[in-house]
Amino acid sequence: MSRLVVVSNRVAPAEEGKQQAGGLAVAILEALKSRGGIWFGWNGTTTENTESGPPDINQVGRLTYATMGLSKRDLDEYYNGFANSTLWPLFHFRLDLASFSGRTYAGYQRVNGLFASRLAPLLEPDDLVWVHDYHLIPFAEQLRTMGLSQRMGFFLHTPFPAPEILVALPGHESIVRNLCAYDLVGFQTEADLRCFANYIRYEAGGLVEELEEGPPGWSGVRVHAFGRTAIARAFPISIETQTMIDLATQAADMAQTQRLRDSLGGRALIIGVDRLDYSKGLPQRFEAFQALLDAYPGNRGQVSFMQVAPPSRTDVAEYQAIRRELETLAGHINGRFAEFDWVPIRYLNKSFSRKSLAGFYRNARIGLVTPLRDGMNLVAKEYVACQNPEDPGVLVLSRFAGAAKELDAALIVNPYDIRAVAENLQRALTMPLAERRERFESMMKVIVANDITHWREVYVDTLYGLGSAD
Ligand code: UDP
Repeated sequence: MSRLVVVSNRVAPAEEGKQQAGGLAVAILEALKSRGGIWFGWNGTTTENTESGPPDINQVGRLTYATMGLSKRDLDEYYNGFANSTLWPLFHFRLDLASFSGRTYAGYQRVNGLFASRLAPLLEPDDLVWVHDYHLIPFAEQLRTMGLSQRMGFFLHTPFPAPEILVALPGHESIVRNLCAYDLVGFQTEADLRCFANYIRYEAGGLVEELEEGPPGWSGVRVHAFGRTAIARAFPISIETQTMIDLATQAADMAQTQRLRDSLGGRALIIGVDRLDYSKGLPQRFEAFQALLDAYPGNRGQVSFMQVAPPSRTDVAEYQAIRRELETLAGHINGRFAEFDWVPIRYLNKSFSRKSLAGFYRNARIGLVTPLRDGMNLVAKEYVACQNPEDPGVLVLSRFAGAAKELDAALIVNPYDIRAVAENLQRALTMPLAERRERFESMMKVIVANDITHWREVYVDTLYGLGSAD
Protein backbone atom coordinates (compact mmCIF):
# COMPACT_ATOMS: atom_id res chain seq x y z
CA MET A 1 0.00 0.00 0.00
CA SER A 2 1.30 3.48 -0.86
CA ARG A 3 2.33 5.65 2.06
CA LEU A 4 0.34 8.77 2.81
CA VAL A 5 2.20 12.07 3.07
CA VAL A 6 0.19 14.84 4.68
CA VAL A 7 1.31 18.45 4.31
CA SER A 8 -0.29 21.20 6.37
CA ASN A 9 0.84 24.60 7.56
CA ARG A 10 0.91 23.46 11.17
CA VAL A 11 1.62 19.91 12.20
CA ALA A 12 -0.63 19.15 15.16
CA PRO A 13 1.45 18.35 18.25
CA ALA A 14 -0.80 15.33 18.41
CA GLU A 15 1.07 12.37 19.65
CA GLU A 16 -0.57 9.27 21.01
CA GLY A 17 -2.90 10.01 23.86
CA LYS A 18 -2.57 13.78 23.75
CA GLN A 19 -5.87 15.49 24.48
CA GLN A 20 -5.63 18.70 22.54
CA ALA A 21 -5.72 17.19 19.05
CA GLY A 22 -8.78 18.37 17.12
CA GLY A 23 -10.99 16.04 15.07
CA LEU A 24 -9.11 16.60 11.82
CA ALA A 25 -5.73 15.88 13.43
CA VAL A 26 -7.09 12.69 14.96
CA ALA A 27 -8.50 11.52 11.62
CA ILE A 28 -5.27 12.28 9.79
CA LEU A 29 -3.22 10.52 12.44
CA GLU A 30 -5.41 7.41 12.11
CA ALA A 31 -4.80 7.34 8.37
CA LEU A 32 -1.08 7.94 8.77
CA LYS A 33 -0.78 5.19 11.35
CA SER A 34 -2.63 2.62 9.28
CA ARG A 35 -0.80 3.32 6.01
CA GLY A 36 2.48 4.58 7.38
CA GLY A 37 3.65 7.95 6.19
CA ILE A 38 4.89 11.44 6.85
CA TRP A 39 3.27 14.53 8.34
CA PHE A 40 5.16 17.54 7.11
CA GLY A 41 4.82 21.24 7.93
CA TRP A 42 5.83 24.24 9.98
CA ASN A 43 6.70 23.53 13.63
CA GLY A 44 5.36 26.84 14.91
CA THR A 45 8.76 28.37 15.70
CA THR A 46 10.39 31.39 14.10
CA THR A 47 14.13 31.76 13.60
CA GLU A 48 16.25 34.85 13.12
CA ASN A 49 18.07 33.16 10.20
CA THR A 50 16.95 33.84 6.68
CA GLU A 51 17.59 30.24 5.67
CA SER A 52 15.84 27.30 7.37
CA GLY A 53 17.74 24.01 7.49
CA PRO A 54 16.44 20.49 6.78
CA PRO A 55 13.33 19.43 8.68
CA ASP A 56 13.53 17.87 12.13
CA ILE A 57 12.56 14.22 11.94
CA ASN A 58 10.63 12.52 14.70
CA GLN A 59 9.72 8.88 14.13
CA VAL A 60 6.69 7.50 16.01
CA GLY A 61 6.04 3.92 14.88
CA ARG A 62 5.29 3.94 11.13
CA LEU A 63 4.71 7.67 11.19
CA THR A 64 7.36 10.31 10.56
CA TYR A 65 6.86 13.86 11.73
CA ALA A 66 8.99 16.17 9.58
CA THR A 67 8.76 19.77 10.76
CA MET A 68 10.75 22.93 10.23
CA GLY A 69 10.96 26.50 11.51
CA LEU A 70 10.44 29.62 9.42
CA SER A 71 12.26 32.93 9.49
CA LYS A 72 10.41 36.02 10.74
CA ARG A 73 10.37 37.43 7.22
CA ASP A 74 8.98 34.20 5.73
CA LEU A 75 6.26 34.05 8.35
CA ASP A 76 5.36 37.69 7.90
CA GLU A 77 5.02 37.47 4.12
CA TYR A 78 3.65 33.95 3.70
CA TYR A 79 1.45 33.44 6.78
CA ASN A 80 0.40 36.83 8.20
CA GLY A 81 0.72 38.40 4.75
CA PHE A 82 -0.58 36.59 1.69
CA ALA A 83 -2.37 33.70 3.44
CA ASN A 84 -4.15 35.61 6.20
CA SER A 85 -4.37 39.17 4.86
CA THR A 86 -5.11 38.35 1.22
CA LEU A 87 -6.45 34.83 0.65
CA TRP A 88 -8.45 34.44 3.88
CA PRO A 89 -10.52 37.64 3.46
CA LEU A 90 -10.85 37.11 -0.30
CA PHE A 91 -12.00 33.51 0.12
CA HIS A 92 -14.55 34.73 2.67
CA PHE A 93 -15.93 37.27 0.19
CA ARG A 94 -14.40 40.23 2.10
CA LEU A 95 -12.76 42.25 -0.63
CA ASP A 96 -12.99 45.26 1.67
CA LEU A 97 -10.54 43.60 4.08
CA ALA A 98 -8.16 42.01 1.57
CA SER A 99 -4.79 43.64 1.00
CA PHE A 100 -2.82 43.02 -2.17
CA SER A 101 0.96 43.16 -2.19
CA GLY A 102 3.51 41.83 -4.64
CA ARG A 103 5.94 41.37 -1.75
CA THR A 104 3.70 39.02 0.27
CA TYR A 105 2.65 37.13 -2.87
CA ALA A 106 6.33 36.53 -3.71
CA GLY A 107 6.92 35.42 -0.11
CA TYR A 108 3.97 33.01 -0.33
CA GLN A 109 5.34 31.36 -3.46
CA ARG A 110 8.87 31.37 -2.00
CA VAL A 111 7.87 29.63 1.23
CA ASN A 112 5.85 27.05 -0.71
CA GLY A 113 8.99 26.42 -2.78
CA LEU A 114 11.08 26.17 0.39
CA PHE A 115 8.67 23.66 1.97
CA ALA A 116 8.55 21.62 -1.25
CA SER A 117 12.35 21.50 -1.53
CA ARG A 118 12.60 20.26 2.06
CA LEU A 119 9.96 17.56 1.63
CA ALA A 120 11.09 16.33 -1.81
CA PRO A 121 14.12 14.29 -0.59
CA LEU A 122 11.86 12.41 1.85
CA LEU A 123 9.37 11.27 -0.81
CA GLU A 124 9.16 7.85 -2.43
CA PRO A 125 7.80 7.51 -5.97
CA ASP A 126 4.45 5.91 -5.04
CA ASP A 127 3.64 8.12 -2.03
CA LEU A 128 0.22 9.77 -2.05
CA VAL A 129 0.65 13.44 -1.14
CA TRP A 130 -2.30 15.18 0.54
CA VAL A 131 -1.90 18.94 0.98
CA HIS A 132 -4.20 20.97 3.25
CA ASP A 133 -5.55 24.46 2.97
CA TYR A 134 -5.07 27.89 1.49
CA HIS A 135 -1.56 28.39 2.84
CA LEU A 136 -0.25 25.72 0.49
CA ILE A 137 -2.04 26.08 -2.85
CA PRO A 138 1.24 26.26 -4.89
CA PHE A 139 2.79 23.27 -3.13
CA ALA A 140 2.10 20.65 -5.84
CA GLU A 141 3.25 22.90 -8.63
CA GLN A 142 6.49 23.49 -6.74
CA LEU A 143 7.01 19.73 -6.38
CA ARG A 144 6.11 19.18 -10.05
CA THR A 145 8.77 21.66 -11.19
CA MET A 146 11.27 19.56 -9.19
CA GLY A 147 10.28 16.60 -11.38
CA LEU A 148 8.01 14.77 -8.91
CA SER A 149 5.07 12.93 -10.43
CA GLN A 150 3.31 11.33 -7.45
CA ARG A 151 -0.46 11.53 -7.10
CA MET A 152 -1.14 14.77 -5.26
CA GLY A 153 -4.38 15.89 -3.68
CA PHE A 154 -5.43 19.18 -2.10
CA PHE A 155 -8.24 19.99 0.30
CA LEU A 156 -9.45 23.52 0.89
CA HIS A 157 -10.76 24.12 4.43
CA THR A 158 -12.23 27.52 3.53
CA PRO A 159 -14.90 28.58 1.05
CA PHE A 160 -13.86 29.13 -2.55
CA PRO A 161 -15.03 32.53 -3.81
CA ALA A 162 -17.25 33.29 -6.77
CA PRO A 163 -15.15 34.19 -9.84
CA GLU A 164 -16.43 37.79 -9.64
CA ILE A 165 -14.60 38.08 -6.30
CA LEU A 166 -11.55 36.00 -7.15
CA VAL A 167 -10.66 38.05 -10.21
CA ALA A 168 -9.97 41.04 -7.95
CA LEU A 169 -6.80 39.22 -6.88
CA PRO A 170 -3.86 40.35 -9.00
CA GLY A 171 -2.39 37.12 -10.38
CA HIS A 172 -5.60 35.13 -9.80
CA GLU A 173 -4.79 32.94 -12.83
CA SER A 174 -1.62 31.65 -11.22
CA ILE A 175 -3.46 30.62 -8.05
CA VAL A 176 -6.00 28.62 -10.07
CA ARG A 177 -3.26 27.24 -12.28
CA ASN A 178 -1.51 26.13 -9.07
CA LEU A 179 -4.68 24.29 -8.03
CA CYS A 180 -4.80 22.50 -11.38
CA ALA A 181 -1.36 20.99 -10.69
CA TYR A 182 -3.09 18.65 -8.21
CA ASP A 183 -4.73 15.45 -9.40
CA LEU A 184 -7.58 15.93 -6.92
CA VAL A 185 -8.91 19.23 -5.57
CA GLY A 186 -11.36 18.85 -2.69
CA PHE A 187 -13.85 21.48 -1.55
CA GLN A 188 -16.17 21.44 1.46
CA THR A 189 -19.40 22.03 -0.45
CA GLU A 190 -20.87 21.82 -3.91
CA ALA A 191 -21.29 25.60 -3.84
CA ASP A 192 -17.49 25.98 -3.57
CA LEU A 193 -17.01 23.40 -6.30
CA ARG A 194 -19.39 25.35 -8.56
CA CYS A 195 -17.44 28.58 -7.99
CA PHE A 196 -14.23 26.80 -8.99
CA ALA A 197 -15.86 25.19 -12.05
CA ASN A 198 -17.27 28.57 -13.10
CA TYR A 199 -13.83 30.12 -12.92
CA ILE A 200 -12.43 27.31 -15.06
CA ARG A 201 -15.23 27.74 -17.63
CA TYR A 202 -15.64 31.47 -17.83
CA GLU A 203 -12.28 32.92 -16.77
CA ALA A 204 -9.73 30.27 -17.72
CA GLY A 205 -11.59 29.19 -20.87
CA GLY A 206 -11.21 25.58 -19.75
CA LEU A 207 -13.48 22.58 -20.06
CA VAL A 208 -15.60 21.17 -17.22
CA GLU A 209 -17.10 17.67 -17.43
CA GLU A 210 -19.57 16.51 -14.79
CA LEU A 211 -18.59 13.20 -13.20
CA GLU A 212 -21.13 10.47 -12.63
CA GLU A 213 -23.45 11.43 -9.82
CA GLY A 214 -22.15 10.70 -6.33
CA PRO A 215 -24.19 10.79 -3.12
CA PRO A 216 -26.07 14.10 -2.66
CA GLY A 217 -23.62 16.84 -1.67
CA TRP A 218 -20.55 14.97 -2.94
CA SER A 219 -20.59 15.65 -6.67
CA GLY A 220 -17.48 16.13 -8.78
CA VAL A 221 -16.14 17.39 -12.09
CA ARG A 222 -13.16 16.79 -14.31
CA VAL A 223 -11.54 20.04 -15.40
CA HIS A 224 -9.18 20.63 -18.30
CA ALA A 225 -7.38 23.96 -18.00
CA PHE A 226 -3.86 25.42 -18.16
CA GLY A 227 -2.79 22.32 -20.12
CA ARG A 228 -3.71 20.06 -17.21
CA THR A 229 -6.49 17.75 -16.12
CA ALA A 230 -7.69 17.52 -12.52
CA ILE A 231 -10.63 16.04 -10.65
CA ALA A 232 -12.45 18.49 -8.36
CA ARG A 233 -15.03 17.24 -5.92
CA ALA A 234 -17.02 18.23 -2.85
CA PHE A 235 -16.18 16.34 0.36
CA PRO A 236 -18.27 17.78 3.23
CA ILE A 237 -15.92 17.63 6.19
CA SER A 238 -17.30 16.48 9.53
CA ILE A 239 -16.56 15.82 13.21
CA GLU A 240 -15.72 12.88 15.44
CA THR A 241 -19.42 12.34 16.05
CA GLN A 242 -19.22 9.40 18.48
CA THR A 243 -16.41 11.03 20.48
CA MET A 244 -18.48 14.20 20.89
CA ILE A 245 -21.53 12.17 21.95
CA ASP A 246 -19.39 10.37 24.55
CA LEU A 247 -17.76 13.60 25.77
CA ALA A 248 -21.14 15.28 26.18
CA THR A 249 -22.50 12.34 28.14
CA GLN A 250 -19.44 12.26 30.43
CA ALA A 251 -19.40 16.06 30.77
CA ALA A 252 -22.81 15.99 32.45
CA ASP A 253 -21.01 14.94 35.67
CA MET A 254 -18.07 17.35 35.40
CA ALA A 255 -17.67 19.94 38.14
CA GLN A 256 -17.35 22.64 35.49
CA THR A 257 -20.66 21.71 33.86
CA GLN A 258 -22.32 21.73 37.26
CA ARG A 259 -20.89 25.20 37.95
CA LEU A 260 -22.28 26.43 34.64
CA ARG A 261 -25.72 25.07 35.50
CA ASP A 262 -25.57 26.61 38.99
CA SER A 263 -24.60 29.97 37.54
CA LEU A 264 -27.57 29.90 35.17
CA GLY A 265 -30.01 29.32 38.00
CA GLY A 266 -32.58 27.79 35.64
CA ARG A 267 -32.22 30.43 32.90
CA ALA A 268 -32.01 29.35 29.27
CA LEU A 269 -28.53 29.47 27.72
CA ILE A 270 -27.68 30.51 24.17
CA ILE A 271 -24.15 29.49 23.19
CA GLY A 272 -21.76 30.70 20.49
CA VAL A 273 -18.26 29.21 20.00
CA ASP A 274 -15.98 30.73 17.39
CA ARG A 275 -12.41 31.81 16.87
CA LEU A 276 -12.44 35.59 17.12
CA ASP A 277 -12.63 36.18 13.37
CA TYR A 278 -14.50 38.75 11.28
CA SER A 279 -15.96 35.96 9.14
CA LYS A 280 -17.98 34.65 12.10
CA GLY A 281 -20.54 37.47 12.18
CA LEU A 282 -20.07 38.19 15.89
CA PRO A 283 -21.13 41.87 15.92
CA GLN A 284 -24.32 41.00 14.04
CA ARG A 285 -24.88 38.11 16.47
CA PHE A 286 -24.53 40.38 19.52
CA GLU A 287 -26.96 42.80 17.89
CA ALA A 288 -29.43 40.00 17.19
CA PHE A 289 -29.35 39.05 20.87
CA GLN A 290 -29.94 42.69 21.76
CA ALA A 291 -32.87 42.74 19.30
CA LEU A 292 -34.31 39.67 21.06
CA LEU A 293 -34.22 41.49 24.40
CA ASP A 294 -35.79 44.55 22.79
CA ALA A 295 -38.55 42.75 20.89
CA TYR A 296 -39.34 40.18 23.60
CA PRO A 297 -38.67 41.86 26.96
CA GLY A 298 -39.92 38.74 28.76
CA ASN A 299 -36.47 37.26 28.04
CA ARG A 300 -34.71 39.90 30.13
CA GLY A 301 -33.34 38.22 33.23
CA GLN A 302 -34.42 34.84 31.80
CA VAL A 303 -31.94 34.12 29.00
CA SER A 304 -28.12 34.30 29.00
CA PHE A 305 -25.92 34.38 25.92
CA MET A 306 -22.41 32.94 26.32
CA GLN A 307 -19.95 33.65 23.53
CA VAL A 308 -16.64 31.74 23.63
CA ALA A 309 -14.26 33.61 21.32
CA PRO A 310 -10.57 32.73 21.66
CA PRO A 311 -8.40 35.35 19.92
CA SER A 312 -6.63 34.21 16.75
CA ARG A 313 -4.13 35.75 14.28
CA THR A 314 -3.49 38.55 16.73
CA ASP A 315 -0.66 39.99 14.57
CA VAL A 316 -3.11 40.90 11.80
CA ALA A 317 -4.62 44.40 12.17
CA GLU A 318 -8.19 43.40 11.18
CA TYR A 319 -8.28 40.89 14.04
CA GLN A 320 -7.27 43.58 16.53
CA ALA A 321 -10.04 45.80 15.15
CA ILE A 322 -12.82 43.20 15.44
CA ARG A 323 -11.72 42.46 19.00
CA ARG A 324 -12.07 46.13 19.97
CA GLU A 325 -15.44 46.35 18.23
CA LEU A 326 -16.82 43.36 20.16
CA GLU A 327 -15.55 44.62 23.49
CA THR A 328 -17.39 47.89 22.94
CA LEU A 329 -20.58 46.18 21.77
CA ALA A 330 -20.68 43.62 24.60
CA GLY A 331 -20.00 46.39 27.11
CA HIS A 332 -22.79 48.48 25.61
CA ILE A 333 -25.40 45.71 25.63
CA ASN A 334 -24.48 44.55 29.11
CA GLY A 335 -24.50 48.12 30.41
CA ARG A 336 -27.93 48.64 28.90
CA PHE A 337 -29.68 45.50 30.16
CA ALA A 338 -27.73 44.01 33.08
CA GLU A 339 -29.36 43.66 36.47
CA PHE A 340 -27.61 43.17 39.80
CA ASP A 341 -28.24 39.42 39.48
CA TRP A 342 -28.07 38.87 35.70
CA VAL A 343 -25.63 39.79 32.92
CA PRO A 344 -27.01 39.24 29.41
CA ILE A 345 -23.75 38.46 27.55
CA ARG A 346 -20.92 36.36 28.94
CA TYR A 347 -18.12 37.16 26.55
CA LEU A 348 -15.03 34.96 26.98
CA ASN A 349 -11.78 35.62 25.10
CA LYS A 350 -10.26 32.24 25.85
CA SER A 351 -10.34 28.72 24.54
CA PHE A 352 -11.79 25.63 26.16
CA SER A 353 -11.06 21.93 25.70
CA ARG A 354 -13.48 19.94 23.59
CA LYS A 355 -14.68 18.17 26.72
CA SER A 356 -15.58 21.47 28.39
CA LEU A 357 -17.29 22.64 25.20
CA ALA A 358 -19.25 19.39 25.02
CA GLY A 359 -20.66 20.11 28.49
CA PHE A 360 -21.47 23.72 27.53
CA TYR A 361 -23.20 22.67 24.30
CA ARG A 362 -25.33 20.12 26.12
CA ASN A 363 -26.56 22.67 28.61
CA ALA A 364 -27.41 25.27 25.97
CA ARG A 365 -31.00 25.56 24.79
CA ILE A 366 -29.75 27.20 21.58
CA GLY A 367 -26.56 26.82 19.53
CA LEU A 368 -26.16 30.13 17.72
CA VAL A 369 -23.89 29.75 14.67
CA THR A 370 -24.17 32.77 12.41
CA PRO A 371 -21.04 33.26 10.27
CA LEU A 372 -21.21 35.73 7.39
CA ARG A 373 -19.28 33.13 5.38
CA ASP A 374 -17.81 29.83 6.57
CA GLY A 375 -16.43 26.83 4.72
CA MET A 376 -18.26 24.26 6.86
CA ASN A 377 -18.40 25.30 10.54
CA LEU A 378 -17.73 22.29 12.71
CA VAL A 379 -19.17 23.92 15.83
CA ALA A 380 -22.64 23.57 14.27
CA LYS A 381 -22.16 19.81 13.94
CA GLU A 382 -20.59 19.50 17.40
CA TYR A 383 -23.52 21.33 19.00
CA VAL A 384 -25.98 18.85 17.49
CA ALA A 385 -23.88 15.79 18.46
CA CYS A 386 -23.75 16.96 22.09
CA GLN A 387 -27.49 17.34 22.66
CA ASN A 388 -29.50 15.18 25.01
CA PRO A 389 -31.69 13.13 22.63
CA GLU A 390 -34.57 13.22 25.14
CA ASP A 391 -34.55 17.02 25.40
CA PRO A 392 -32.41 18.49 22.61
CA GLY A 393 -31.65 22.16 22.07
CA VAL A 394 -32.15 24.03 18.80
CA LEU A 395 -29.47 24.96 16.28
CA VAL A 396 -29.86 28.43 14.74
CA LEU A 397 -27.59 28.34 11.71
CA SER A 398 -26.47 30.83 9.09
CA ARG A 399 -27.29 30.02 5.50
CA PHE A 400 -23.72 31.10 4.72
CA ALA A 401 -22.13 28.23 6.67
CA GLY A 402 -21.27 25.19 4.54
CA ALA A 403 -22.97 23.08 7.22
CA ALA A 404 -26.37 24.59 6.33
CA LYS A 405 -26.56 22.30 3.32
CA GLU A 406 -26.39 19.11 5.41
CA LEU A 407 -28.03 20.50 8.58
CA ASP A 408 -31.11 21.81 6.84
CA ALA A 409 -33.29 20.82 9.80
CA ALA A 410 -31.72 23.67 11.80
CA LEU A 411 -33.45 27.06 11.91
CA ILE A 412 -31.64 28.56 8.93
CA VAL A 413 -31.10 32.33 9.11
CA ASN A 414 -29.56 35.21 7.20
CA PRO A 415 -27.07 36.67 9.72
CA TYR A 416 -27.31 40.14 8.14
CA ASP A 417 -31.04 40.22 8.94
CA ILE A 418 -30.75 41.06 12.64
CA ARG A 419 -34.48 41.19 13.20
CA ALA A 420 -35.04 37.77 11.57
CA VAL A 421 -32.29 36.20 13.70
CA ALA A 422 -33.99 37.61 16.81
CA GLU A 423 -37.33 36.14 15.63
CA ASN A 424 -35.70 32.75 15.16
CA LEU A 425 -34.12 32.91 18.61
CA GLN A 426 -37.57 33.50 20.06
CA ARG A 427 -38.96 30.63 17.99
CA ALA A 428 -36.17 28.36 19.26
CA LEU A 429 -36.75 29.40 22.89
CA THR A 430 -40.42 28.48 22.63
CA MET A 431 -40.16 25.45 20.33
CA PRO A 432 -42.17 22.41 21.51
CA LEU A 433 -40.22 19.29 22.48
CA ALA A 434 -41.66 17.18 19.62
CA GLU A 435 -40.37 19.63 16.99
CA ARG A 436 -36.98 19.92 18.69
CA ARG A 437 -36.63 16.14 18.67
CA GLU A 438 -37.69 15.81 15.06
CA ARG A 439 -35.14 18.39 13.92
CA PHE A 440 -32.41 16.92 16.11
CA GLU A 441 -32.98 13.36 14.86
CA SER A 442 -32.88 14.48 11.26
CA MET A 443 -29.53 16.28 11.78
CA MET A 444 -28.06 13.43 13.84
CA LYS A 445 -28.68 11.01 10.97
CA VAL A 446 -26.47 13.14 8.75
CA ILE A 447 -23.55 13.50 11.16
CA VAL A 448 -23.64 9.85 12.22
CA ALA A 449 -23.50 8.70 8.58
CA ASN A 450 -20.79 11.22 7.64
CA ASP A 451 -18.31 11.59 10.47
CA ILE A 452 -14.68 12.69 10.08
CA THR A 453 -13.46 9.12 9.55
CA HIS A 454 -15.92 8.60 6.70
CA TRP A 455 -14.89 11.93 5.17
CA ARG A 456 -11.19 11.08 5.33
CA GLU A 457 -11.71 7.55 3.95
CA VAL A 458 -13.67 8.85 0.96
CA TYR A 459 -11.01 11.48 0.23
CA VAL A 460 -8.04 9.11 0.52
CA ASP A 461 -9.84 6.35 -1.43
CA THR A 462 -10.65 8.84 -4.19
CA LEU A 463 -7.03 9.97 -4.40
CA TYR A 464 -5.80 6.40 -4.28
CA GLY A 465 -8.35 5.36 -6.92
CA LEU A 466 -7.04 7.99 -9.32
CA GLY A 467 -3.59 6.43 -8.96
CA SER A 468 -4.68 2.90 -9.71
CA ALA A 469 -6.69 4.00 -12.77
CA ASP A 470 -3.47 4.64 -14.72
N1 UDP B 1 -12.66 24.99 19.52
C1 UDP B 1 -12.04 24.52 20.66
N2 UDP B 1 -11.97 25.35 21.75
C2 UDP B 1 -12.46 26.62 21.73
C3 UDP B 1 -13.08 27.11 20.55
C4 UDP B 1 -13.17 26.25 19.46
O1 UDP B 1 -11.60 23.36 20.72
O2 UDP B 1 -12.35 27.32 22.74
C5 UDP B 1 -12.78 24.07 18.36
C6 UDP B 1 -14.23 23.73 18.06
O3 UDP B 1 -14.68 22.72 18.95
C7 UDP B 1 -14.16 23.31 16.60
C8 UDP B 1 -13.01 24.15 16.06
O4 UDP B 1 -12.30 24.68 17.18
O5 UDP B 1 -13.83 21.94 16.50
C9 UDP B 1 -13.49 25.29 15.17
O6 UDP B 1 -13.83 24.79 13.93
P1 UDP B 1 -14.84 25.57 12.96
O7 UDP B 1 -14.97 24.77 11.71
O8 UDP B 1 -16.14 25.82 13.67
O9 UDP B 1 -14.17 26.99 12.70
P2 UDP B 1 -12.70 27.45 12.25
O10 UDP B 1 -12.01 27.90 13.49
O11 UDP B 1 -12.04 26.25 11.59
O12 UDP B 1 -12.92 28.62 11.32
